[in-house]
Amino acid sequence: MRKYVIMGVQGSGKGTQSALLAADLDLVDISVGDIFRWHVKSHTKLGAQVRRVMARGELVGDDLVEAVVRDRLQQHDWNYGFVIDGFPRNRRQAEFFLESYDIDGVIHLDLPDKEVWRRVLARRLCSGCGMDYNLIAHRPETDGRCDVCGGELVTREDDTPEALTRRLAEYHDKIDPVIDLFRGKEYVITVDARADRATVQREIRERLGLPAYTPAA
Ligand code: AMP
Repeated sequence: MRKYVIMGVQGSGKGTQSALLAADLDLVDISVGDIFRWHVKSHTKLGAQVRRVMARGELVGDDLVEAVVRDRLQQHDWNYGFVIDGFPRNRRQAEFFLESYDIDGVIHLDLPDKEVWRRVLARRLCSGCGMDYNLIAHRPETDGRCDVCGGELVTREDDTPEALTRRLAEYHDKIDPVIDLFRGKEYVITVDARADRATVQREIRERLGLPAYTPAA
């Protein structure tokens, strides 16, 4: 059983790296942001509660987030473990998590703010299936259309300069102390996220003592 947390500023490749790790090691890939986006898109009661907060790039309240994480992990579909992305986002969430689950490692993807701006403003999302694209590193074959389902590619509602400024400030204010807290428990590996996705994945595997990464041809 392997339980990992993946942390890093927006655009550092958390989604990509956790998907690669999860697919190969049979881990369940849990993205708290994706769960909230699903609720917004599906017009659930929870979606209505979080929609505006998310669009402004602000954090959803801790009680709500902890309930969502608890519910998700209670599904117990993670026989081989999980990798969780987007949580914990502050010290209180980190303490809740450490009390409830033992963690095998925290993957910290390190990316300078300047590169974050470049990447995030190029990010697109399929409005049909939710697949991620990036106009710099992962362009769709046809402009504006998803390679998988043909859906329209859109900008995430919170990928605006205003929201990004807010999220970066929030990140440094709240997440740096969380990383310090985990580092005190010797869980953290910090990986330079400026490299290409295969290099980053290889380094994560090496540092966590996991089977080597061989990209699909
Ligand atoms: P993400 O996809 O991880 O950037 O998350 C998108 C949005 O979902 C964030 O800007 C928050 O509004 C909300 N969110 C996701 N994870 C958390 C969390 N752990 N705590 C509070 N809000 C969160």
